[in-house]
Amino acid sequence: MIFSTEQLERYNRNILLSGFGEEGQEKLHNAKVLVIGAGGLGSPVLYYLAAAGVGTLGICDGDVVDLSNLQRQIIHTTNDLDKLKVISAKEKLSALNPDLKIFTYKDRINSKNILELLSDYDYVIEATDIFSSKFLINDACVLANKTLIRGSALHFCGQLMSIKPKESACYACLFDTPPTGEVPTGASVGILGAVAGLFGTLQANEAIKIITGVGTPLYNQILTCDVREMDFRKIAIKRNENCRVCGQKGITSLKDY
Ligand SMILES: [Zn+2]
Repeated sequence: MIFSTEQLERYNRNILLSGFGEEGQEKLHNAKVLVIGAGGLGSPVLYYLAAAGVGTLGICDGDVVDLSNLQRQIIHTTNDLDKLKVISAKEKLSALNPDLKIFTYKDRINSKNILELLSDYDYVIEATDIFSSKFLINDACVLANKTLIRGSALHFCGQLMSIKPKESACYACLFDTPPTGEVPTGASVGILGAVAGLFGTLQANEAIKIITGVGTPLYNQILTCDVREMDFRKIAIKRNENCRVCGQKGITSLKDY
């Protein structure tokens, strides 16, 4: 495509990057990315992807903005209380970059609707804190063969991995099934807002790398950090040939967890 003078100026600092150029910018412009969760992780993901010029963004979230969200969900403001998060987020992103196509989905994802949702996108970013959704999104991406960049943040810690279905380890290769019983949540043990900001930003970096082909994606690895000691670790993980989701006898349909 031919970028306008204004676009060339807007994206100048991207285009200058080694290995990037106008070609990299065009890949971003043509990319269709679905972000599931417009909260603590989703806020920086959405801001940075929109700023970088990812041409089509889908935002999926069923919640409305609550006062207790604002400590970390920086795409929403006090004026947005009780507003649907997808609407609040879209307003900010459209103001930041009017170049983009932004689609919103306020229905909660489930095993019946997620494949249709994914079908319009090339890449999926999982930015939810609900374990059942994390597993469902993983399964759907394996079935639909969509590259998934997943993250989580809780307490002082965060986690990041990228998944190329049937080629690299999936979420179920690592954790098999959702935890049972009482699981810690942001509402029970707290979450430092800046930790969500850090890991959401890392997810945006991963997405931009994977879309443009710059650098090495975090496939078959999981990055973790406890910010109390700034203890970043990159742990190698292996795809499980017998994984109940992506293995030889893997899933052929979806279920709700
Ligand atoms: Zn697997």
